[in-house]
Amino acid sequence: MNKTSHTVLVIEDEPDIMELIEFNLKKYNYNVLLANNGEKGLKDARSFEPDLILLDLMLPGIQGIDVCRVIKSDENIKNTPIIILSALGQEEDIVKGLDAGADDYVSKPFSLDILNARIKSVLRRYIRNDYGDANKTIVLKGIKISPRTREVTIEGELISLTYTEFQILHLLISHPGWVFTRYQIIDKIRGENYPVTDRSIDFQIVGLRKKMLGKGNLIETIRGVGYRFQHHET
Ligand code: CA
Repeated sequence: MNKTSHTVLVIEDEPDIMELIEFNLKKYNYNVLLANNGEKGLKDARSFEPDLILLDLMLPGIQGIDVCRVIKSDENIKNTPIIILSALGQEEDIVKGLDAGADDYVSKPFSLDILNARIKSVLRRYIRNDYGDANKTIVLKGIKISPRTREVTIEGELISLTYTEFQILHLLISHPGWVFTRYQIIDKIRGENYPVTDRSIDFQIVGLRKKMLGKGNLIETIRGVGYRFQHHET
């Protein structure tokens, strides 16, 4: 096996989509494992420890969401990145999947370009794994955020954020392109005894956007799913 190529496990029950994904992945030299149901997918994930899993949500037998939960609670394979493949209109399931630990999602019908970009992006995050330094100053799209001093400047101009607004902006900007559900945001920014709720996240985002000197649109609302800091993959 070529050591430089990544192994991708595709858990998908529709033969046409499976074939399309397989053909596409092989074209880019990924090693491909195929499972047409959740049981086989779990077995293959444990046996082969793939570098990435593409997981359909609507599967016969064990549903994709449960496959995701099982993988993310299995010590040996829980760090395997998962990209969910979902049909349009499955926003609730996407949220459940992200909350269960999936890394990203692609809605069907998808273009192969988008799928490839997401795969590259997710693999890159895992390989780079540079989210460890929470105190690192981040500069992106004219926004500079310094966790040590808790200062934020936009095009050089200092802005004043509340504790929670700062936490939200820092979370989103340090993971550009990642979609966070409200629950994930609450989970990651929860300050001591701060009673943050779903709705208050929306409220906080509205306030945060207003303070961003015209750059509030960099925080995108992903309808029915959550929020992300705008990022365009190559
Ligand atoms: Ca399916």
